[in-house]
Amino acid sequence: MKKMEQLYEGKAKKVFATDDPAIVIVDYKDDATAFNGVKKGTIVGKGAINNRMTNHVFRLFEEQGIPTHLVEELSDRETAVKKVEIVPLEVIVRNVAAGSFSKRMGVEEGRALLCPIIEFSYKNDDLGDPFINDDYALALGLATAEEIDTIKNYTRKINEIMKEYFRNAGMKLIDFKIEFGRLPDGTIILADEVSPDTCRLWDVNTNEKLDKDRFRRDLGNVEEAYNEVFRRLGLD
Ligand code: UDP
Repeated sequence: MKKMEQLYEGKAKKVFATDDPAIVIVDYKDDATAFNGVKKGTIVGKGAINNRMTNHVFRLFEEQGIPTHLVEELSDRETAVKKVEIVPLEVIVRNVAAGSFSKRMGVEEGRALLCPIIEFSYKNDDLGDPFINDDYALALGLATAEEIDTIKNYTRKINEIMKEYFRNAGMKLIDFKIEFGRLPDGTIILADEVSPDTCRLWDVNTNEKLDKDRFRRDLGNVEEAYNEVFRRLGLD
């Protein structure tokens, strides 16, 4: 497979065309942003960690019947993936109150929720990814009812797989964000990434934060946290 011209550069990844029109290459960067791009920085080694961790978790999902965009890991930072049209929804799952949920609802961070929450944001940087519900998505044509149903079913299953996976490595899965894409025939598959950029992970005993909140909130030891997650998952 030949890497060709760059198609797109996002906040954390670049996307390149290949000689196969159905396949693109994602190239993970060490760049970190927060608060809709207002805070910028570098987390040395993050690109390689996020690439390898995403691919590992996506293989687990595939084994459990959840289709993903993964085709082949090409290097530390590069992976060939199926080209999709991204469904413009950030699908967020919450098991424990944190972040914007805690603020919005006035609930202290760390309070366990009685059941997992699936919520949607409209993926739109200019608007700051506003919180929406199913009806917004349907009314604006962001996804069909059938697609939303598929997305929610996959998401519930992904949460169960991930909770157990991280728990076995000494971490609590507080919340996370995933994105789905459409293949040309309309099939919904998991795309984007699963990493400490997109999950909140707390040490199971001490509640120490092992994720991007260390960068967002200037808690220090950012690289150490990413490396620690990688090590605990046995990926190093
Ligand atoms: N998240 C993400 N990208 C975003 C917004 C959120 O990956 O653009 C993840 C975030 O890392 C956390 C979860 O989604 O694991 C829930 O984030 P929240 O809505 O609490 O927003 P935040 O407090 O991060 O602004």
